Amino acid sequence: MPTTNVAAIIQQARTRNRHLLTEVEAKAALGAAGVPVADTRLARSREEAIAQAQALGFPTVLKICSPDIVHKSDMGGVQLNLRTPDAVGQAFAEMMQAVKQTQPTATIDGVSVQPMATAGLEVIIGVTSDPQFGPVVMFGLGGVSVEILQDVAFRLAPLSPHDAHSMIREIKGFALLSGYRGQPAVDLIALERLLLQVSALVETQPDIKELDLNPIFAYPNGCLAVDARIILHEASPITTVRPLSAATRAALDRAFNPRAVAVIGDKRAMNYMWLRSQSTFQRKVYSVQIDERELPGIAALGVPNYHSLAEIPDEIDYVMTAVPRQIAPRLVADCAAKKVAGVMLFTSGFSEIGDDEGKRLEQTMVDTARAANMALIGPNCMGLYHPRIGLRNYAELPAGEAGTVGFIGQSGTHSITFSLAAPHHGVKISKAVSFGNAAVLDASDYLDYLAADPETQIIGMYLEGVREGRRFFSLLREVTPKKPVVIWKGGMSEAGKRAISSHTGSLAVPAAVWKAMVHQAGAISAETFDETLDVIKLLQFVKPTTKTGVGLIAMTGGPSVVITDAFEHAGLSVPLLSDASYQELSSFFTVIGGSFRNPLDSGHTIGMGQTSDNLERLLSILDRDPNIDTIVMDTGAGLVAGQWQARPKTLEALLETLTNFATRSAKPFFVVLQPFALEAALLQVREQFQARGIATFATHQRAACALRLATGYWRFHAENSGNSSR
Ligand code: ADP
Ligand code: MG
Repeated sequence: MPTTNVAAIIQQARTRNRHLLTEVEAKAALGAAGVPVADTRLARSREEAIAQAQALGFPTVLKICSPDIVHKSDMGGVQLNLRTPDAVGQAFAEMMQAVKQTQPTATIDGVSVQPMATAGLEVIIGVTSDPQFGPVVMFGLGGVSVEILQDVAFRLAPLSPHDAHSMIREIKGFALLSGYRGQPAVDLIALERLLLQVSALVETQPDIKELDLNPIFAYPNGCLAVDARIILHEASPITTVRPLSAATRAALDRAFNPRAVAVIGDKRAMNYMWLRSQSTFQRKVYSVQIDERELPGIAALGVPNYHSLAEIPDEIDYVMTAVPRQIAPRLVADCAAKKVAGVMLFTSGFSEIGDDEGKRLEQTMVDTARAANMALIGPNCMGLYHPRIGLRNYAELPAGEAGTVGFIGQSGTHSITFSLAAPHHGVKISKAVSFGNAAVLDASDYLDYLAADPETQIIGMYLEGVREGRRFFSLLREVTPKKPVVIWKGGMSEAGKRAISSHTGSLAVPAAVWKAMVHQAGAISAETFDETLDVIKLLQFVKPTTKTGVGLIAMTGGPSVVITDAFEHAGLSVPLLSDASYQELSSFFTVIGGSFRNPLDSGHTIGMGQTSDNLERLLSILDRDPNIDTIVMDTGAGLVAGQWQARPKTLEALLETLTNFATRSAKPFFVVLQPFALEAALLQVREQFQARGIATFATHQRAACALRLATGYWRFHAENSGNSSR
């Protein structure tokens, strides 16, 4: 008799020193967990097989039952639709013969006997274990759609009912499940329940490394798993979750808001980049340098120099250094002795280059920093940027103004470039960090810190990997309902994965798992620098909507057509307007050389933006139209930029109308301002729009992509707020 207790079945397999559960064992475990499985019994002999078949009723199915055979049908180990005792007996003999030939060393428990199930639509549910993110549940249709088309949806376990609901609907083949060409729809509720049962099983049984239900027959009423496979971890997995301690949070807070900083070992060869970066720092700056040749250069910067950190007659909160790697551990020890809160190492050549010496040096610093509860930032990074107090990590960065957007970057260049570029787009930084190798503090720690930072309202991230995947995921899930988090992940291609291991030493995560994780946590996945900045800009500037209908205004024909394509291709919709809108539009719209079905090709009607009352009317019609959720205007900058330059009043008039509208409308509104020519002049125009609170985007595609990402975020959280998860 099969054991009906899940843990006991797993334990039994373990004591037999096996990692693959047989189909009989796997189904017993799944059945005990409530999963509908075909009634499957073990038979050790031909006679037992016939007896079991008679007990279960014909037609019946025989399969080889062995902990050493993964794919049964590949080696002739499955016989379907056996209708008589003789047929069962013959199948048994053939199967034993086939095993002898193909896998003579395999341990054979016998055969499994189960009723031949009525065929249904085949679906697959699988679970794999990611080293960082733990169990990941997969759903797809059977056959080619998984194997060749890879039309599958992933979610990290445990699944919420919303996850189960949405992952079934996410696959391209969903149409087949929901009743295609007169076929009845399958029981989607039963599939959702099955997903949740599998998720609960792997959550309560961390020993399960992989699980496959392939296939499951989905019926109009219910579903049935006819094959099951479970693989156990070699050893019980260890899960360590190390949240940001109060002491580390306090240390990081002191480092971000220092009263005094020290730069160690800055030199002329680096153009004193660290000291020069602190020229805007409103509090105390010290230098530590023993090389006499460097002292005049440091004195010229007006920074007091000491021969050691210990000699500085002041408490130091934050240390920046670029000393060679051999010296770095001693320096970190000096910082600990001085009770410094945070130390950042620009120095590289540690775990990311993979040599034993680099790893050893890094470990020494980690041990020192942990013991002292000191925030070790990096190494191999650019450290902290807090513009409000003038604490910078690059000498060209703006200082003095407070912002609301935090940035966490595993790459120094991306962090600095984002900090440099964002203000030009009206996006001001609250705090930013470049954290490199993450030897002590990782992405999760900085995310935790910025999540609680009152200055920060939106968080952008550039990541190559995270160490504590589970912690990152649950933290992210907590943060995103309160603050949008945009994650740009590097190393999503196979060759890119190779590049990240030498850049920051991060471990690669399969792209599908990463994307599923970000989506499931309610964060925003960006693929490029531009996407990251664009969506953050949109989130900061425009009012939220959960719906996708876009009303488009363009000046001329060609742009009207392609802006429509851009928004439709991004997965948004450009719907027809209401009858009331069409009635009103037909009363004044110039249809010769124009049209107003949506897009509104309206250059003639609005005098290329100059006929303010008509422009105002168009905007108001879209504002009132129930089919329209977001309003976007292509300003026709390619044609009118010269005129704006020659007669600034024309731009003023347009800005005036649009600003008034953006202020009073409850719908998101933004413009496309594409610099085809006169780029320098248009840069200023962009700033004028931004100064008035209107976001501009450089192309139709970038605008559409930003709206798609932001709408996805707003919608996700509207659907997930409260307990009703639909
Ligand atoms: P494999 O180890 O090769 O995956 P399966 O147990 O999945 O073996 O069997 C192969 C195929 O036989 C399945 O894909 C399914 O189409 C069919 N099958 C298996 N069990 C049954 C059953 N009880 N009733 C009907 N068809 C079955
Ligand atoms: Mg199978």
